[in-house]
Amino acid sequence: MAEQKDKSNCVLLWCRRDLRLDDNPALTAAVQDAHMVIPVFIWAPEEEGQFQPGRYSRWWTKQTVLLFNQQLQQLGARLIVRRTSDTSKALQQLVAETGASAVYFNHLYDPISLVRDHEVKQSLTRTNIPCRSFNSDLLYEPWEIMDPQTEQPYTCFENFWNRVLSMPYPPPFPTAPPAKMAPVPEAVQSVEINKLDWFMTPEQEASSDQLRFKWKPGISGALEKLDAFLSGRLHQFEHDRAKVDRESTSQLSPWIHIGTISVRYIFYRVCQRQAEWAAQGKDTSQSCKDFLQQMGYREYSRYLSFHFPFIHERALLAHLRACPWRMDQVTFKAWRQGQSGYPLIDAAMRQLCSTGWCHNRMRVVAASFMVKNLLLPWQWGLKHFWDTQLDADLECDALGWQYVSGGLADAHPFSYIIDLEREASRFDPDGEYVRRWLPVLARLPTAYIHAPWRAPHEVLAAADVELGANYPMPIISREESVANMAEACRVLDRCTSSSGVSHKQPYRAPTEVVSGSGIGAMLKPLTGSGPNTGTGTGTGTGTGTGYQLNGGQGSGSGNMQQPAARRVAAQRGAVLHAPAAASAGRPRGYHAPQRHAPAEGCSAGPSPSTQLTDSRTDAYQYPPALQPC
Ligand SMILES: Cc1cc2nc3c(=O)[nH]c(=O)nc-3n(C[C@H](O)[C@H](O)[C@H](O)COP(=O)(O)OP(=O)(O)OC[C@H]3O[C@@H](n4cnc5c(N)ncnc54)[C@H](O)[C@@H]3O)c2cc1C
Repeated sequence: MAEQKDKSNCVLLWCRRDLRLDDNPALTAAVQDAHMVIPVFIWAPEEEGQFQPGRYSRWWTKQTVLLFNQQLQQLGARLIVRRTSDTSKALQQLVAETGASAVYFNHLYDPISLVRDHEVKQSLTRTNIPCRSFNSDLLYEPWEIMDPQTEQPYTCFENFWNRVLSMPYPPPFPTAPPAKMAPVPEAVQSVEINKLDWFMTPEQEASSDQLRFKWKPGISGALEKLDAFLSGRLHQFEHDRAKVDRESTSQLSPWIHIGTISVRYIFYRVCQRQAEWAAQGKDTSQSCKDFLQQMGYREYSRYLSFHFPFIHERALLAHLRACPWRMDQVTFKAWRQGQSGYPLIDAAMRQLCSTGWCHNRMRVVAASFMVKNLLLPWQWGLKHFWDTQLDADLECDALGWQYVSGGLADAHPFSYIIDLEREASRFDPDGEYVRRWLPVLARLPTAYIHAPWRAPHEVLAAADVELGANYPMPIISREESVANMAEACRVLDRCTSSSGVSHKQPYRAPTEVVSGSGIGAMLKPLTGSGPNTGTGTGTGTGTGTGYQLNGGQGSGSGNMQQPAARRVAAQRGAVLHAPAAASAGRPRGYHAPQRHAPAEGCSAGPSPSTQLTDSRTDAYQYPPALQPC
């Protein structure tokens, strides 16, 4: 007879962006290991520093937490919700109140969470409360995917993704939800979810509530979207994915971001669908491959954030840090408000503002216009998207902005400017998208819908369009943009040649390991099998040696990890540990951005991102312009 495993009395399950019952390895392990599991959600937006959630994110989080609590109640438990500005203390307090013997949670990879989770683990282990942490968010952990030749992380998506696809073991198979859970004692108090201060102002809440007409939070909404996509749009994804005048993609990003649905569940559902089609003799492999590659970008965003934790603040390619951005708040405001005079850009910004979402192609075009045509710092755009998007996700946001601004080794070069009219004719050929989001232009003939400034006077008059009155003239011409870009490139070239920084050399974080501290320094080998061992299908390796993210009694991935790869991951992780002096005065958990010396002969001003104030007001306080060399 199998030996009965000793169960501890009570485990705290710290829930964050993993608000689901199925494929939640921390929940599965907690239910296996303890008689009672107390799920806890801690609302501490101040800890995110300048990356506090925007109003749509707040609305989405609130709705998701409400529904997750209902799901837990159906199993017999309930969600304990606490409000704090110090998560570590709140967890300590909950441990003391409940007598919990351990804290379990799933990994997050954004720089702010990496620092906070490390601090939480340290403070709990100091008081002899072990932590176990798991991978619920990725197909493979960032330290599993290293370049075997250099033992360094990849800095090119294609190589990264090829490596992921050729891993010798499959991604962990999704775990089932628990059948039931023990009730949480009445004595453990929780803030009432509806009474929590989710929003900064009552107006924020009122204006966000219209989102319920477009988005259905919770697992039922996610599954509806996924099923509709798998049975409808997936087989055409190869051809349609860039079309913006129709629903062509899955629109799953808000649910994926908050963890309502697991990426591994989606991954295996797509594989299953592909197998079904293949059995029917239909070749949809390219569409399935293309869709999984989109999910791959999300994996890559976490990968880069883990290995290069400054990616939301500085270009990965070092030479771009000397870029002479224009600190022009007037054009920035016009861009934000969809008043650029370029219909495709304005339609995208208005869709984003009213629904919290827009197609990836539109995000690329709008972001690229801001950075390349207006020469505004990409960090401003990142912060604006962060405040506006329903699926606001620091890693994906940073990856998107790095790509469009040329900050990555495999991105278009900085000097590349998108041809907006060509773009419009490819992705919105009949102007349907523009008509939907800019009704003022709806009556323009298709020939002028993307360039109303070219329309003859009588055509404008017949369509009721008065340029400069009910729709703006373009705020900048293409010729001006090209000239400004050429000047910026000259400045960059001068800085690059005087400092010897290579255009294609990714900036690498310092590699010394801070002994005894830092997340990477805490990577420890351990033996054993966990729920995350990749034993689902095929060639899962079962038990083995793995590495936990940091401290405590973590659970191994169950896969052999090369010592060298581990060392590099450790080195990358170690730099997350900000010196105490640098973080003084900042909200807890906020990693003080490291300043780097400007290229010789350049006077780089303050980092644009670190000076951003709350974008929910129009009055940005931006620093004086970065001085060109
Ligand atoms: C400047 C910029 C900022 C962005 N900010 C965010 C953000 O804050 N949050 C966010 O989720 N995505 C962001 N993206 C990526 C992308 O635009 C969205 O993920 C995508 O539009 C979501 O739509 P979908 O779910 O229909 O995608 P699908 O094409 O159906 O893809 C499925 C899933 O794959 C992931 N994915 C797809 N494309 C990308 C991509 N390019 N990068 C990373 N992941 C991707 C998403 O999780 C998405 O839900 C940004 C892109 C750019 C260019």
